[in-house]
Amino acid sequence: MAGLVDSPSLIDSPSLIDSHCHLDFPDFATEQDEVVDRARRAGVAAMVTICTHLSRFSQVLAVALRHQGVVCTVGVHPHHAAEELGGLTVDLLQEQASHPKVVGIGETGLDFFYDNSPRPAQEESFRRHLRACVATELPAIIHSRDAEAETLRILREEGAGGGLTGLIHCFSGSHEMAEKALEMGLYISISGIVTFKKAEALRATLAAVPLNRLLVETDAPYLAPIPHRGRRNEPAFVVHTAAAVAKIKGVTTQEFAERTSENFRRLFTRAQAPCA
Ligand SMILES: [Zn+2]
Ligand SMILES: [Zn+2]
Repeated sequence: MAGLVDSPSLIDSPSLIDSHCHLDFPDFATEQDEVVDRARRAGVAAMVTICTHLSRFSQVLAVALRHQGVVCTVGVHPHHAAEELGGLTVDLLQEQASHPKVVGIGETGLDFFYDNSPRPAQEESFRRHLRACVATELPAIIHSRDAEAETLRILREEGAGGGLTGLIHCFSGSHEMAEKALEMGLYISISGIVTFKKAEALRATLAAVPLNRLLVETDAPYLAPIPHRGRRNEPAFVVHTAAAVAKIKGVTTQEFAERTSENFRRLFTRAQAPCA
């Protein structure tokens, strides 16, 4: 599969971090080791594999335990909020998050675009995750689609700007959303969407987001950046997203990698240990 194997290494030394991918998904089942290896060779020093179902947490954790440089989260995607709400408690999240490989809680949030779960279930699930974040002092991985006002309201009510930290993952929101999230002390994580032709509004918004609050991610297996658009995404491809954002911010990809890695370590305090 030419082109998939040879992701160009755009930086001198491994220092990029993919803040959001789903390595436990069946898309990677047959070649997880190769995918992690390709990421390393492309300059990706660490990856956060993100939990979407409580029932899959042990598989997610197993991926993180298997690979040096891979850490994970625990949480329930808003799409599955209704089906998992019964078993979801703040205590359980706290307990599962006590493992040293778990560096954050989520992904959680609101998806009013797909509405795969009824909105009250999404909101309740989101709140329980945020309470676990406050209790553990771990950052929240926030998914927000077509629900900006509600996301911001719940974040404010649950302590953002106080004891609650986190990031808006796969950010593609409005200028106002970025501004409010930054005011609350949150970080903004950019996916391959930024490389898409039609993403002019996102690129314009990004110009106003300070470099010290940015992160990059793949959301693999989804959202492969150009030049891989339309194919399965993987963490190695985060170099293309980093190059695109670096250009917008007027820095080299190497400098961008270093700065965003610093941001990552500031936010994900548990990921500071080199063994993570
Ligand atoms: Zn998401
Ligand atoms: Zn995700």
